[in-house]
Amino acid sequence: MAAAALSRFLPATSRVTLVESDDIGTVGVGEATIPQIRLFNSSLGVEEGAFLATTQGTIKLGIEFVGWTGPDSRYTHAFGAIGRGLGLLPFHHYWLRQQTGSLWDYSVAAAAAKAGRFAPDPGRPELPTGLTWAYQFDAGLYAGLLRGQAEARRVTRVEGEVATVTRDPLSGDVTALVLNDGRQIAGDFFIDCSGFRGLLVGEAMGVPFDDWSRWLPCDRALAVPSEAIRPILPLTRATARTAGWQWRIPLRHRTGNGLVFCSAYLNEDAATAELLRGLDAPALAEPRLLRFTTGRRTDAWAGNCVALGLASGFLEPLESTSLHLVQSGIARLLQFWPGERIAPADRDAFNRETAREWASIRDFLVLHYHANARAEPFWQACRAVPLPDQLAAKLDLFRAHGRIVREGDELFTEVGWLQVMLGQGVLPASYHPLADAPSAEDLASFLDAQRRHVSAVVGRMPSHEQFLRTETRDLS
Ligand SMILES: Cc1cc2nc3c(=O)[nH]c(=O)nc-3n(C[C@H](O)[C@H](O)[C@H](O)COP(=O)(O)OP(=O)(O)OC[C@H]3O[C@@H](n4cnc5c(N)ncnc54)[C@H](O)[C@@H]3O)c2cc1C
Repeated sequence: MAAAALSRFLPATSRVTLVESDDIGTVGVGEATIPQIRLFNSSLGVEEGAFLATTQGTIKLGIEFVGWTGPDSRYTHAFGAIGRGLGLLPFHHYWLRQQTGSLWDYSVAAAAAKAGRFAPDPGRPELPTGLTWAYQFDAGLYAGLLRGQAEARRVTRVEGEVATVTRDPLSGDVTALVLNDGRQIAGDFFIDCSGFRGLLVGEAMGVPFDDWSRWLPCDRALAVPSEAIRPILPLTRATARTAGWQWRIPLRHRTGNGLVFCSAYLNEDAATAELLRGLDAPALAEPRLLRFTTGRRTDAWAGNCVALGLASGFLEPLESTSLHLVQSGIARLLQFWPGERIAPADRDAFNRETAREWASIRDFLVLHYHANARAEPFWQACRAVPLPDQLAAKLDLFRAHGRIVREGDELFTEVGWLQVMLGQGVLPASYHPLADAPSAEDLASFLDAQRRHVSAVVGRMPSHEQFLRTETRDLS
């Protein structure tokens, strides 16, 4: 992703070299995304139909959370708008006043996901639907697509293993990578995309890792593909389990599954059994174990080196944010691209904004764990964890009058927070007092019209599979 974007946006005089090791390989998971990926793709000229065809991709309209507040509980964090506001207030205050139907009856994405339907333009573009979407895809195939683009734009790809890093004795800046066959790759600016190890920013530059596992205690994942399921739903599923949760990501050629769990509460054998029991179709391989610590490098940019991806930290995939964090890191890096000389003010601003972004996503994830209603010891312990201050304030605000304030340019919108708070059983004592302005009859017909609009829009959509067939001319 970084090589593709840099080769697209840097002046032609810049030379980009990508060092990768087939022997080490990639982490090989990361299949569900959020809608911002569409902006990244379009900035690189990656067209949707070709992307879906190349990556065995499917549409994602949100995440269905199952079992987080009890065995049969279920809600969706759907993308895009929910309902239409009135006057000064967002929609949900009116819904909270009347509570006609479920909140998700007013979401095109949630209703389409439930019906297994999708169309980017459901026939009447003049009607605002607030629909937006993301993708589920094979990340290895996506990497191949971007690699092809990057190489076509003169990125030099070097296959080899970095053995040591040479640094300037005075400034501490990285001057070259030394490969284990002795080759040297010199450079002015380095991007550390080396995965969990953090070869440059962590090992060479010594930037400390801020451990967030007190809030997000899961530290293992077991990943396994299973046979494709039909119909292919445009939805990722996250099902709470004994000491963590299980993902299900439907692609065209297979389904991605995994169990994220806390090793202090569940051993690997029990976790493997729980994962395999929870599959909808036969497994296609042995489960693969990944170990991680949630948290981040305190400074993503140190000296002449910027960490992206797992080298910069890890937030578990509960809201599919990691690939986005790479892409927003790239966008931010381009925004603060240093030119001839690195200005400390640029680096500090980059680090400040990165820290803010990560903390707000962390809080959103913590909300899911905190507001659970499950009986197992792991989940009881999650409820007892003291919250980060900003999250505690957000919950207090919502509990009083259903108000949600989006801080700065934080990633998740008011509608995202709303769905997860209500879905996880966080209920406000009341709604905004101004929502009492319309008469009960006017409000009823306002809500009724919106529900009918959503079901009419969804009714015009083809099935998700039909959309994929048309869009990609193939559904293998
Ligand atoms: C269990 C799990 C589930 C996930 N699910 C999702 C998801 O659904 N959605 C999402 O957005 N994200 C998800 N992620 C995160 C996602 O997988 C990563 O953000 C993404 O793959 C980026 O990884 P990376 O490139 O930083 O690291 P890696 O994939 O580990 O790549 C590291 C690269 O560095 C190279 N390298 C390392 N050391 C050396 C060396 N010494 N010399 C030369 N090359 C070297 C490797 O060869 C490799 O190419 C998930 C992560 C995990 C662990």
